[in-house]
Amino acid sequence: MDNCIFCKIANGEIPSATLYEDEDFRVILDLGPASKGHSLILPKAHAANLMEMPDELAGKAMILAKKMAAKLVDTLGCDGLNVVQNNGESAGQTVHHFHIHLIPRRTDDGVVLGWKPGQLTEEDRDELLKSFH
Ligand code: 5GP
Ligand code: ZN
Repeated sequence: MDNCIFCKIANGEIPSATLYEDEDFRVILDLGPASKGHSLILPKAHAANLMEMPDELAGKAMILAKKMAAKLVDTLGCDGLNVVQNNGESAGQTVHHFHIHLIPRRTDDGVVLGWKPGQLTEEDRDELLKSFH
């Protein structure tokens, strides 16, 4: 992908603050962090979103998220950490190259994430259960 900024960052064409690199991934500090240590896991191969990720790479991405999460919590001494992964503009994705956000958290840190809980209706439940079985 010639015009993808995360392809260029992941493959080292554009310099970035890199916490970790291997043959498949680069982990960088987000330029607009929600909290100190907010990092992004970028695959070196372009995939627009989770659904486009090859199975093996998707699995490796989650294993790397686990390792990086543990290291960030240990290094920063924080209380928790959100793993966030947006797919599509409606879901808040602004860079259309798959990435996983790792967002270190502390009690009362003021970081805003989340949704207003609704109520599962019987109609939605039945429709969805029918579609998935
Ligand atoms: P999304 O909204 O697509 O899930 O997240 C994109 C993230 O990439 C945002 O948190 C944004 O701050 C970060 N970002 C966008 N461009 C750059 C960049 O050039 N370098 C770095 N390090 N982060 C970027
Ligand atoms: Zn890309």
